[in-house]
Amino acid sequence: MKEPLFLDSILQEKIWGGQKLHTIFGYELPAEKVGEYWAISAHPHGVSTVRNGEFKGHKLDELWNNHRELFDNAPGKVFPLLTKILDAEDYLSVQVHPDDEYALKHEGELGKAECWYIIDAQSGSEIIYGHYAKSREELAQMIHEGRWDDLLTRIPVKKGEFYYVPPGTIHAIGEGILILETQQSSDTTYRVYDFDRKDDSGQLRKLHIKQSIDVTTIPGVTPVLDVTKEKVGDSIITNFVKTPFFNVYEWKVAGELSFEKQASYTLASVIEGRGKLLVNQISYTLRKGEHFILPAYVEKWKLFGEMTLIVSEPPGS
Ligand code: ZN
Repeated sequence: MKEPLFLDSILQEKIWGGQKLHTIFGYELPAEKVGEYWAISAHPHGVSTVRNGEFKGHKLDELWNNHRELFDNAPGKVFPLLTKILDAEDYLSVQVHPDDEYALKHEGELGKAECWYIIDAQSGSEIIYGHYAKSREELAQMIHEGRWDDLLTRIPVKKGEFYYVPPGTIHAIGEGILILETQQSSDTTYRVYDFDRKDDSGQLRKLHIKQSIDVTTIPGVTPVLDVTKEKVGDSIITNFVKTPFFNVYEWKVAGELSFEKQASYTLASVIEGRGKLLVNQISYTLRKGEHFILPAYVEKWKLFGEMTLIVSEPPGS
């Protein structure tokens, strides 16, 4: 039976997290402060498990290793993508991620490009996105002197916006923001500044100043996105970004929407509303908080209902 792969995934406790992953998405939280749901992941720090069909109980990394036909025999040692939902009750650390070359050399894993779809943001929310240093010396000096207000670019955000964060971008998600993040499958984060916060055991989290100064893009570059929208009936398909790492879309379904496969495989997350997915004459109920993969063997599918999905495809598709 050629079915989509519905996934159950791992929640991650974080000092900046909250309860919204339960109150908004209905996940059962193991702790008071839960920051991340690794919704579609084959990363060793939290691997998703298939919930249905002939691959029920299989882990995504295992499918990538042993059933590469599900992914059109795409190349690569590791499943390249990772989808997360983040609930930032408080600021995340100010951080920067390396590119593939630096990360493979120093950390033995992929670098990290990421992008954010703002699911919700309380009024007055902001992100840190870029910096004002003109040279690496100036960046180092401002970091060592703790001149954060002079260094960091803060911008206000609101629901429905999209931000691309290439490697080398200093960034932080601010308080009161709920985000769907699409990223390379990597967990390498260099912390520049953590607001001098302590964890439950009174410890400061580790900073990575040298690596941060090494990998930050100087001068800062703000990505310009070429967003395209296509109206199909009452539905709207938006392409936010096409990068060497992932292509990301919003499918705003109103009524019925038909698709033909255009990538080797497709990752999808329902972030709003409810409806149905039809694959090979079988109908699957979709509701907010559901995440699935359409493997290579799914050539056509239809969506029905009133819902919003954030979708990603691997590069080269
Ligand atoms: Zn990040």
